[in-house]
Amino acid sequence: MTVIEAHNIRKSYGTLEVLHDVDLSVREGEILALIGPSGSGKSTLLRLLDLIEPANDGQLSVFGIDTVADRGSWLDLRRRMGMLFQRPIVFNSSVYDNVAMGLRYRRAPAEDIDRKVKEALEAVGLSRYIKSRAIDLSGGEQQRVALSRVLVTDPEILFLDEPTANLDPTSTATIEAIVTRLNREAGMTVLISTHDLAQGQRLAHRVGVMIEGTIAQTGPSREVFREPKNQQIARFVGVQN
Ligand code: ADP
Ligand code: MG
Repeated sequence: MTVIEAHNIRKSYGTLEVLHDVDLSVREGEILALIGPSGSGKSTLLRLLDLIEPANDGQLSVFGIDTVADRGSWLDLRRRMGMLFQRPIVFNSSVYDNVAMGLRYRRAPAEDIDRKVKEALEAVGLSRYIKSRAIDLSGGEQQRVALSRVLVTDPEILFLDEPTANLDPTSTATIEAIVTRLNREAGMTVLISTHDLAQGQRLAHRVGVMIEGTIAQTGPSREVFREPKNQQIARFVGVQN
């Protein structure tokens, strides 16, 4: 089953065309990595697929619902997805409150909040910091707090926008291990953007290479790296390896 189906997506900011001719389908339960140079449109595409902002053109179905025809569906669909950004967003309160925020915003019952926050912190290995002040934690731990805030809402699709770009190798490995486990054990569908080819190879079942605002090639990473379809893809894959 596909959970996201996008065709001919186009996005401009003013006169700047940022995305064009984007086709993508995401299968339930897979990890798909969008890789590509800085400025190629990865973050913008994630924001469109996550329904944070609309495309200018094209078709986009999420969980089988046509989001262009049915604008009334956006709020419900958004609640079935969650996004983690490159910079950890934490607030000057306890780790518990930082994570609970994700649920309080949705007016969840108090007894559910307590149980779910504890589960979400367990999932990212931060249970012992539950009472700590979030801003006192390391960058990697803060990113896990932010991830926990997303997980507490039980997203069916997890979007990760360069989630480890600001982190050291150890914290990066920790986040990667969490993502792999969420996918293997909970069957979570994951869409991650990264400029780090090796990360795409380590994590993803399939990669999509973004070049200048479009997805130039998709496939299993080994195949894409071995047989790039054109010069630009070859250059991107080659330069970084
Ligand atoms: P990537 O994540 O691959 O680095 P982005 O999606 O962030 O790429 O950006 C792609 C292009 O779109 C860049 O040229 C960027 O400056 C431009 N861009 C992104 N968001 C906006 C925006 N809100 N307003 C204007 N230009 C934007
Ligand atoms: Mg980006």
